[in-house]
Amino acid sequence: MNLDGIGMTSRRTRERLINRLIDQGITNIDVINAFRQTPRHIFVDEALGHRAYEDTSLPIGYGQTISQPYIVAKMTELLLRDGVPQRVLEIGTGSGFQTTILAQLVPMVFSCERIKPLQDKARSRLRTLGLHNTHLKYSDGGFGWSEQAPFDAIIATCAPNDIPQELKAQLSENGGRLVIPVGGDNQQLVMVTKMGDELKTETFDSVVFVPLVRGLEKA
Ligand code: SAH
Repeated sequence: MNLDGIGMTSRRTRERLINRLIDQGITNIDVINAFRQTPRHIFVDEALGHRAYEDTSLPIGYGQTISQPYIVAKMTELLLRDGVPQRVLEIGTGSGFQTTILAQLVPMVFSCERIKPLQDKARSRLRTLGLHNTHLKYSDGGFGWSEQAPFDAIIATCAPNDIPQELKAQLSENGGRLVIPVGGDNQQLVMVTKMGDELKTETFDSVVFVPLVRGLEKA
């Protein structure tokens, strides 16, 4: 990844965030290193850049947010818990931050976004960082990405009330896993693992994500 031009101040505040993630129980060293490498300040507007290494979600426009670093780390760690997935689908590209974390950890990342201007900005950030293993699609990710299925892992960064059938269907039958916030006012982080035609569901932390909205946002 191309990290030219990153100043010392940002390096120091970034290290503070890393320590916080570790204090909160993130243990996967590859995930921690991906956070260490990733300049979160380029994923938010310049005016919010000074808050980029706080462990908090921040607005990215269009009523959407870049997720809280701890929860990005937690979901990524879950996705990698039982081995490194080869092909990963993300629902909700948003700023492209989670996409960037994933792109450093797995061979191939596919990501869908329903708000075109957010996708355009994310694409240019990924290009600036020199990441070439990401594929973006302007689409309703509730349908998954059938042409590229099956996926070893799917991660949703927006919450449906119920998990769309397509996402379960597009998991690989050999341990494919889906990490997704589910619910309206009370959301839970859920991981669904597929073995053959059996689905196992595990429930984790309470979370707060923007809703998964069906259809494309009209410009
Ligand atoms: N992963 C992002 C999080 C952005 S917030 C990041 O790291 O910045 C969640 C994103 O999901 C928003 O950009 C929202 O537009 C998008 N989203 C919501 N419903 C969607 C859907 N059905 N298909 C694709 N993207 C969706």
